[in-house]
Amino acid sequence: MAESVSAVRTVRRSDTPGMTVQADVCVVGAGISGTTAAIMLARRGHRVALVDSCTWIGGQAVGVPIGTIAGLFSAGPNPFLLSPVLATEVLDALAREDACYIQYSRRARTNTVVYDEVTAMRIFEQMLRAGDVQIILGGVVTAADLDGRRIRAVDVATRFGACRIAARAFVDASGDAALAWTAGLACREPTMAIHGTQMCVLEGVVCGDPAETRAVVQHAEGLIRERGEAYGLTRREGVIFLLPSRQVAILNVTHVETPLDPVAFWHHGLEGREQVERAIALLKAEYPEVFGRAHVRSLGHPGIRQTRSIVGMHMLTVDEVNAGVRFPDAIARVAWPIELHDTAAGYRWEPFPDGHVHYIPLRSLLHAEADNLIATGRCIDADPFALSSVRVMGPCMATAVAAAECIDLALWSDSSLHDVDAGKVQERVAPNLDGEWPWPPDGGTSASGA
Ligand SMILES: Cc1cc2nc3c(=O)[nH]c(=O)nc-3n(C[C@H](O)[C@H](O)[C@H](O)COP(=O)(O)OP(=O)(O)OC[C@H]3O[C@@H](n4cnc5c(N)ncnc54)[C@H](O)[C@@H]3O)c2cc1C
Repeated sequence: MAESVSAVRTVRRSDTPGMTVQADVCVVGAGISGTTAAIMLARRGHRVALVDSCTWIGGQAVGVPIGTIAGLFSAGPNPFLLSPVLATEVLDALAREDACYIQYSRRARTNTVVYDEVTAMRIFEQMLRAGDVQIILGGVVTAADLDGRRIRAVDVATRFGACRIAARAFVDASGDAALAWTAGLACREPTMAIHGTQMCVLEGVVCGDPAETRAVVQHAEGLIRERGEAYGLTRREGVIFLLPSRQVAILNVTHVETPLDPVAFWHHGLEGREQVERAIALLKAEYPEVFGRAHVRSLGHPGIRQTRSIVGMHMLTVDEVNAGVRFPDAIARVAWPIELHDTAAGYRWEPFPDGHVHYIPLRSLLHAEADNLIATGRCIDADPFALSSVRVMGPCMATAVAAAECIDLALWSDSSLHDVDAGKVQERVAPNLDGEWPWPPDGGTSASGA
């Protein structure tokens, strides 16, 4: 017979400090950029700690979810991959699971990739596991130990108690420059409100075969535009993505403010969820043959487009983007349009001519006031217009690859990230700077014109 006395013990919290994780590199933020940086650093043989305040891997790419990878391809009638490093592996893995759909967007004149977010999350998790990355989810960075120009450690609050991560280099992949901000380093904020979006994943959508997808999307987007006001929608220029293999539609049809204020953020977030409900009511009533039997699979975390960035060694400007300046320290190339969501009803959309590319310099990733802190993703140093182009997921992956290579080069010589020879980083990211990389190799399986 089991004895209850030996099956339980009395415990009490002690005053001993929380655990400490020792790593070569600490990456703050497990979105597309932080996850990419962590995978690449692990592949270079570094001990990596990856921390995120959310409880899942993939940040907004999974938890919002974003639904479409943009910015990976060139603009023009025959788009090729601009940033193949790691991206090709991710796309291949999604395709093997029948979890993505390539669409040619007539609006953007390039390919985007609609993906299933759960499959994407598992792909990232497996890659991180293969690199033995130490993952701390549900961990908010609350303090940074800044010693002169070096961050020595960060303090993290988790539901299981406090944790300290000590490392030689740090990546700010928080999207909101949360690490730079917490360390008391200079940051930038836009002076205008830039709207986020409460996304929605609908399942049970009658997508038709891939050939019909374009017409379905165009009709649904037209209904939002023309009938939205009658249903009380704030945003008129919404976009909808279909993933025919899953009978799923991903609605990007709302606009919400996303202030960095814990109470105001959720005030707007709940308003966004009401906008979603109105949009669904519209689609069910006006397009019942496609949306009549659909229901909500998920309402993720309200999506945040642009908030706070680092002050880097160079602020990428919209003039440089428009001119396609190839900087001496260019580490990523981009062709995605200017896409600034600075009004509630719509957004500025400025596509580039076919063949245009613009570049991101390494200096826009390096924090001006720290020797061992580099940013990736949507909090690199760029003005709001330039950032609205380079914040999409393709460039986020490309800046993360470059950040990882820069750290790798610095750690071998124990030097400042600022002393790394940008030419050596460029050698390592050469496929992301030059060349035309077809994907999929057979030229594609589908085409849509959202
Ligand atoms: C609604 C919406 C639609 C979009 N549509 C597209 C699209 O169709 N295609 C496309 O390519 N891009 C799109 N984008 C842009 C793109 O998705 C994002 O810019 C990109 O995902 C940013 O990736 P990231 O890794 O830099 O940041 P995020 O994905 O935001 O990840 C940052 C992570 O850092 C964590 N974090 C923040 N602060 C802390 C802290 N103090 N402690 C610990 N962790 C912290 C967060 O929890 C988060 O998970 C869209 C963005 C939004 C908001």
